[in-house]
Amino acid sequence: MSKKAAKYVYSFDELRLAERAAGSADGVRALLGGKGANLAEMAKLKMPVPPGFVVTTEACKAFLAAHERFPKGMWEQVMKAIGGLERATGKKFGDPRNPLLVSCRSGAKFSMPGMMDTVLNIGLNDEVAQGLARLSGDERFVFDAYRRLLQMYGSVVLGVPGKAFEELLSGQRARRGVWNDADLPTEDLKAVTAAFKKLIEEQARRPFPADPFEQLELATQAVFRSWNGKRAFDYRKAAGIPHDLGTAVTVVTMVFGNLGADSGTGVATTRNVTTGEDQLEGDLLMNAQGEEVVSGARITLRIGELARLLPAVDRQLRRIVHVLEKHYRDVQDVEFTIERGKLWMLQTRNAKRTAKAAIRIAVDLAKSKLISKAEAVRRVAPEHVDYFLHPQLDGAVCAKARDEGAMIAEGLNVSPGAAIGQIVFDADTAEHWAKQLKKKVILVRPETRPEDVHGMLAAQGIVTSRGGRTSHAALVARQFGIPAVVGASTLEVSAERKQMRTPGGKTLKEGDWLSIDGGSGEVFAGKLETVVPDVTDPYLVALLDWADGFRRLGVWANADYARDAERARRFGAEGIGLCRTEHMFFEPERLPIVQSMILAPGAEQRAEHLAKLLPMQRTEFAALFKAMDGLPITIRLIDPPLHEFLPSRDELHRSVVELETRIRLGEGDRAALESQLSSKRRLLESVQAMHEQNPMLGLRGVRLGILMPELVRMQVRAILEAACACARQGVKLKPKIMIPLVATKAELRLQRELLEDEARKVLKEQGVKVRYEFGTMIEVPRAALVAGELAEFAEFFSFGTNDLTQMTFGISRDDAETGFLSEYLHQGLLAHNPFASIDLDGVGQLMETAVRLGRARRKSLEIGICGEHGGDPASIAFCHRVGLDYVSCSPFRVPVARLAAAHAALADAKA
Ligand code: PEP
Ligand code: MG
Repeated sequence: MSKKAAKYVYSFDELRLAERAAGSADGVRALLGGKGANLAEMAKLKMPVPPGFVVTTEACKAFLAAHERFPKGMWEQVMKAIGGLERATGKKFGDPRNPLLVSCRSGAKFSMPGMMDTVLNIGLNDEVAQGLARLSGDERFVFDAYRRLLQMYGSVVLGVPGKAFEELLSGQRARRGVWNDADLPTEDLKAVTAAFKKLIEEQARRPFPADPFEQLELATQAVFRSWNGKRAFDYRKAAGIPHDLGTAVTVVTMVFGNLGADSGTGVATTRNVTTGEDQLEGDLLMNAQGEEVVSGARITLRIGELARLLPAVDRQLRRIVHVLEKHYRDVQDVEFTIERGKLWMLQTRNAKRTAKAAIRIAVDLAKSKLISKAEAVRRVAPEHVDYFLHPQLDGAVCAKARDEGAMIAEGLNVSPGAAIGQIVFDADTAEHWAKQLKKKVILVRPETRPEDVHGMLAAQGIVTSRGGRTSHAALVARQFGIPAVVGASTLEVSAERKQMRTPGGKTLKEGDWLSIDGGSGEVFAGKLETVVPDVTDPYLVALLDWADGFRRLGVWANADYARDAERARRFGAEGIGLCRTEHMFFEPERLPIVQSMILAPGAEQRAEHLAKLLPMQRTEFAALFKAMDGLPITIRLIDPPLHEFLPSRDELHRSVVELETRIRLGEGDRAALESQLSSKRRLLESVQAMHEQNPMLGLRGVRLGILMPELVRMQVRAILEAACACARQGVKLKPKIMIPLVATKAELRLQRELLEDEARKVLKEQGVKVRYEFGTMIEVPRAALVAGELAEFAEFFSFGTNDLTQMTFGISRDDAETGFLSEYLHQGLLAHNPFASIDLDGVGQLMETAVRLGRARRKSLEIGICGEHGGDPASIAFCHRVGLDYVSCSPFRVPVARLAAAHAALADAKA
């Protein structure tokens, strides 16, 4: 008994059957492809769609799996469907007396514009062309259609290079002395048709098939095959579309826009997809076929002209697109053809749009109740929000610059936004040029160090040739919203010679102009133009407001100073999750005091220097408390290794050798040189004594607090003295004091006892009641595993996922991304960069463990994250799932985090 063949072909009026087979609207799109499903949908809505049918993606998959053989029964179903078209149109496939012509178009579940193949005008041959010419009375039109079929068929189906056809056409144009194909007379098109047939026969070693059914069969195979073409494969890889979906083939009765002045063709979007304004936008070409509108060969008319040329068609089109937008509840991008005054809809799909338009459209659609507020929030992507926060390089300008070879390097896109400025190679020059000379500068360094911060802050943008996503340069840049590209490793940067060489051999010097795109990681030579988006855009404000209503996670910011805190609040931050106090030590006027404090020979001298630092920190903390006015503030005690505050060992070494040489050669004032030498030697000795092979795994965090208790005591004193002063002025506050890099319960207990002692002392002295909390960072895998024990001594946890990732993988966060990690990513050994997005399997498990153990020991334990991952949408979704209380990120990521947290909550509600 033979099994009944599966159904592989659906005509446009069989949408119900397809729905039944596929189970859902999404299933129908997967089965019929987006184009086929939407054409069937339009037919159901009684819109003027030319009769047609779809050969399913299932057929494509079966074809590709069976060494390019159609599945059993498919072709018979196609023949039957052609019969259906013949009945619907009253025409006949291959009949010169009244011929039916069809197009054969690709169409997968997800739109892949231009990535697969399409053949138009199938059904034409010499006899049919003669017949059609008699029928239409327009021989020129017929031979134009015929040569297009030969051209498309030859290249797509028979593999003749497209260039060969183009050369024949341009030869004909040259002989006739015209620029456009539209100006070639009938006899020229006939000659081209003959030449194309000859070309096919020569190059494909077979004649163009005259049988329309054979044309259709081979074209269908070619479209199926194009699913695995290189273009399509690469596109899917980049767009994250699975490779096993297959494409459908949509066969549609041809309608012609090139049949005279009352014919035409066009494309339109139901709203302006650049700005989001609610007005029909599009292009129109009278007396033309579809591809001419997109190819740009002829100058198009604005869609508004249709009202003047064919007012009734214009009214009908506007009615249709209005219904389509309502039906799909989204902005549509349509293609249509007008054949002798009759409108035909050829395609509709959700329109692609800019970030600005995406937000405005989502808000407008929700306000007009077409979609819910939740849907509006869901439809806006984090990168759409990001766009509003930074000036951007103009897209067209960038493309031109790329074409002209002005793109000189690509690095990691660590801090979005565009920056344009003159190159400087050191921080002092950056600051001098920016502040005194009022120049815009880009600081270019091999890498940055804490002592470069003043120059980084003065710069429009930062470029480094070394360093990764959590390198110093990246961290500072993101925190301050300075566009930055780091790890542009093909640039040879020589800070000493104040120049850099590009891989193309160009040398750029101090003062030359540079433009960078921190969103894409591109670096351009020269001064490119930017467009400045608006952060107070009312649509953005409304959308983020709605997002806040859906999210459960709090969104806090990493901010060290009052000015950052104020900005973070403007962007919607509800607290400070990380104030890195050591950043205050790097201020130029404070650094010498910090250095003297570190190098002090005894406790007494050290106390002297600490006493000088105390009022400085107190002032900063008071300003921070006032800026946040009652919102939670987490202040982390000193973390980096102390030698980071000292001059570099290598530089000191060089100075010592240089001084020794000058003394030996008898240069300069010997006494002065010797005094300099002895002080440099002392300094070098101290620096050498503190030298560590692996400072990132050395005397950092709580270890510093344990070895140098007076330093952290001073910090706690500064925090609480500032808190008392603010409380007296009526500022509400509850500082959260955070102890970093803890690995054991003993460390935390010891440190907490010490600091509690200082805290009680301060409150007693001040006579003010201020509530405060102690907590710790979970940055070492061991801390996550013993989180229950740590929770005994911590009222809150904050995941320092920069360190936690570094220590879990054993990959240095500063070096990895420009080293082997990029190779790992390239080879697919890692699916994504764990420093950008939390590694769920490893680091994520540790986090889950810490949350579970911590909350089991202390129910009220508040848990957040303050590593760079706190601003990454995928990581935010994970933080939501494991039940963190808040995420903390740089102020400029706050709006993105608000949206991502809402997305996470909405996904939860849906699941
Ligand atoms: C972290 O490690 O994730 C963190 C926030 O601390 P830092 O980046 O200052 O080491
Ligand atoms: Mg850390």
